[in-house]
Amino acid sequence: MAKQVKTIGVLTSGGDAPGMNAAIRAVVRTAISKGMKVKGIMRGYAGLLQEEIVDMSSTDVSNIIFRGGTILYTARCMEFYEASYREKAFHNAKEIGLDGLVVIGGDGSYRGAGYLSELGLPCIGVPGTIDNDIASTEYTIGYDTAMNTVVECVDKLNNTCQSHERCSVVEVMGRHAGHIALNTGIATGAVQIITEEIPTPIDDVVENIKKIRESGKDHFIVIVSEGYGNPVEIATQIQEKTGIDSRATILGHVQRGGNPTLKDRVNATRMGYYAVKLLEEGKTNRVVALQQGNLVDYDIQEALRMKKPLDMDLYNM
Ligand code: ADP
Repeated sequence: MAKQVKTIGVLTSGGDAPGMNAAIRAVVRTAISKGMKVKGIMRGYAGLLQEEIVDMSSTDVSNIIFRGGTILYTARCMEFYEASYREKAFHNAKEIGLDGLVVIGGDGSYRGAGYLSELGLPCIGVPGTIDNDIASTEYTIGYDTAMNTVVECVDKLNNTCQSHERCSVVEVMGRHAGHIALNTGIATGAVQIITEEIPTPIDDVVENIKKIRESGKDHFIVIVSEGYGNPVEIATQIQEKTGIDSRATILGHVQRGGNPTLKDRVNATRMGYYAVKLLEEGKTNRVVALQQGNLVDYDIQEALRMKKPLDMDLYNM
């Protein structure tokens, strides 16, 4: 039988994402309902090193399911790349009596969780990033909200593009993955989607726009994934080669904010609940994932080796 889990910790790490609060809430409330105590670790792994740790009650997570950001703050903790600091963090965790830790973040955060698990602190990763670039899961917390934010912004740009017969080149987030670009490009009726995976040459983009203009269209949206290239340069080239007034917009961190959508709230709640159940069952070194709508879990190292290509059927459509 698994060792009784009395106290668990929860932290958010890496880039923030709407819905992280809903996941924290689910972890806290599930654990408390199972008779566990919960400690909130502030600013990701940094809080474990600097012992910035708070006791969390059920009411501490009241009124946060609908709030973007993360009440535990998040940070990138460079010390964690060094074994000596990870050992210090492990000892701090043991000193405060942690029997397990839920880490809400991306692949980098999963690596940190893998090391802590190896040292003897059972860790469970929960996928939190707007980019949906975690290969082990078809869905990450924050993805839906971020895409809806993009769609709302691009719809507004589209209005003014139409009035002025312009081309808008819009850079969206996604790090090295084009999932946000692909889906929002479809949803906004973009004439072109450019990502690292589909690095369409500028001359092809120009030819495409010219062809579409000949069919009567007078305003154009081009979605470019961050990491591909400079959207200002792309807009300049389109303008020079087509004569269409073209502007670049970088949506930036606005995509990280906002109240999480229903989908993000529900998935974050399911994943937080599932993570605590795994710890209760004595599991360690696992990540929570969604596959075909169902919750599953994988070994962290196995999860990190997985690949998630862009959906080319969606692109070709
Ligand atoms: P994400 O979790 O969103 O992928 P990062 O890659 O920035 O974001 O990772 C978040 C944090 O996780 C880092 O600041 C660091 O504290 C920890 N981390 C990332 N990669 C490693 C690694 N290889 N070894 C140990 N800790 C890591």
